[in-house]
Amino acid sequence: MPFHLPPLSRRQFLGRSLTGGAALLLSRHLFAAAARPADPHSWALLSDSHIAADRAKIAREINPTDRLSTVVQEVLAWEKKPAGALVNGDLSLNSGEPGDYATLAELLWPLRAAGIPLHLALGNHDHRENFWTALHQDKRVTAPVGAKQVAIVQSARANWFVLDSLDRTNVTPGVLGAAQLAWLAKSLDAHADKPALVMVHHNPGTGGNKNGLTETEAFFEILRPRRQVKAYLFGHSHRWSVVPDESGIHLINLPATSYPFDPVQPTGWVMAHLETNGARLELRAHDTAHAAHGHRHHLQWRS
Ligand SMILES: [Zn+2]
Repeated sequence: MPFHLPPLSRRQFLGRSLTGGAALLLSRHLFAAAARPADPHSWALLSDSHIAADRAKIAREINPTDRLSTVVQEVLAWEKKPAGALVNGDLSLNSGEPGDYATLAELLWPLRAAGIPLHLALGNHDHRENFWTALHQDKRVTAPVGAKQVAIVQSARANWFVLDSLDRTNVTPGVLGAAQLAWLAKSLDAHADKPALVMVHHNPGTGGNKNGLTETEAFFEILRPRRQVKAYLFGHSHRWSVVPDESGIHLINLPATSYPFDPVQPTGWVMAHLETNGARLELRAHDTAHAAHGHRHHLQWRS
């Protein structure tokens, strides 16, 4: 089941958010943004939001709500309105409580009110059923892979394949499963005309990493021979890095919007601008004094 949150109308936004003058003022501001045309090639990439029901919750010395709110404001203030935003899993703080998703949905409303569609993936700190229940009024159901939540988000210059590596809530390694891998192979073959950008919460389980994607080898066996696959994007490790693998697929490790595991790592989000033969990525760190803030990668797609 793909999970897309479509833009909200002004009436829907007002119906759901705080009432009164502040909401009205906020909505006027946001709906002015909704009138801005979107750049079809720009995409906001977020991961590991770790939102708790309680907005004041502190996790690893930071407030994930404040951090995500800052990212939302930065996306809204970006010079170009993105065609969409992708949030790559670990949406919930820890165990995927229904209230976590209710708060997350509220924090993301401004993006939707500004006319930016959202595509959400799940991580090992999410709970599939709670997520679906909490966001039931927004649910868009198709179920090509049983309970797993997969999506193909098509755009002018690339197709995003958003996969589901949540195995069991709060169990760290990721599992796609044979059915999802088969679906991926078939879907990539059916969309070979455009670059494919594959997004999974879990990082590669290589080099002794037992906490990543357990079927990394089988996964790469699907990606590598399909030349339309240009990038594998993941979160989970709360790190920022961009390196090519041996076949020229770009391995893009998205930073967390919440906290880093390693204090030297930046938190924030990434603006991606797709080109015909590659992409430009720019890291937007919360700490604007961080050495990686504003860090740009100009990626060329393998042929
Ligand atoms: Zn995480």
